[in-house]
Amino acid sequence: MDLWVTEYQTPSLGFSCKVKETLRYEKTEFQELSVVETEQFGKMLLLDGMVQTTEQDEFVYHEMITLVALNSHRNPEKVLIIGGGDGGTLREVVKHPAVSQATLVEIDERVVIASKDFFPDLACAFSEPKAEVLIADGIEYVKQQHQSFDLIIVDSTEPVGPAIQLFSREFYQSVYDALKDDGMLVVQSESPFYNQNVIKMAFGGINQVFPLTKLYLANIPTYPSGLWSFTVGSKLYDPQLPSCSYSQGCKYYTPEIHQAAFQLPAFVSRIIE
Ligand code: SAM
Repeated sequence: MDLWVTEYQTPSLGFSCKVKETLRYEKTEFQELSVVETEQFGKMLLLDGMVQTTEQDEFVYHEMITLVALNSHRNPEKVLIIGGGDGGTLREVVKHPAVSQATLVEIDERVVIASKDFFPDLACAFSEPKAEVLIADGIEYVKQQHQSFDLIIVDSTEPVGPAIQLFSREFYQSVYDALKDDGMLVVQSESPFYNQNVIKMAFGGINQVFPLTKLYLANIPTYPSGLWSFTVGSKLYDPQLPSCSYSQGCKYYTPEIHQAAFQLPAFVSRIIE
């Protein structure tokens, strides 16, 4: 009998992939974790039934959540990643020549372990000399930092469970305080088709705290609707203007995509008006 995995992306829409094999299923302290081998996208990581990453399309998300900010900040030496326990964002950050130190704060150690066990192309950066991996709540960690980072990337799950506070104005204020005077924040802010409230919450909250807030888009086939948004808050630099063109080994990001990603369809501009 065929086995399929379905993510219920809205109350009336499911996204299904044919599964060759279930590789892991467990209830961690924080969430339900599964790793399945799909026919279409290779290995897929799901948390609470929501697709987090797949072998085939992870490059889009991980290049786009990192390189837009890394290439528009003039000197992104110290980077903090909140969440991102699969390691894909860390892999892109440590590759960047301007970065000298990358700290990843993931709440759920089981996600890091699953990545090490099944996603070697994502987990490859955990042991890099530039990388530091901490198992802790990113919200509490950020509160203890003061002007410590050049760039903070929030690579979180959807705003449910342990990630809900990661979309609050109070959290964005702590991030602002943890950034240096020319610091930047990037968050994944979900689908403009299905999650307009999340975009309003992220963009609106960041915009209340940072002098410059911008939204950009990327196409990610396994995320709800395939069109995904990211929101940047910046203290100084315009994130739309790359000052460096680093894109070695990239499969999605180019300096042209960097600028084009900020061109928004009319209905998306209206969400953040
Ligand atoms: N790319 C993904 C997406 O948008 O679907 C997100 C990937 S990553 C696996 C998300 C991680 O954020 C999860 O491993 C989750 O445990 C972590 N996370 C959620 N809340 C957190 C918190 N408060 N502090 C640190 N990590 C958190």
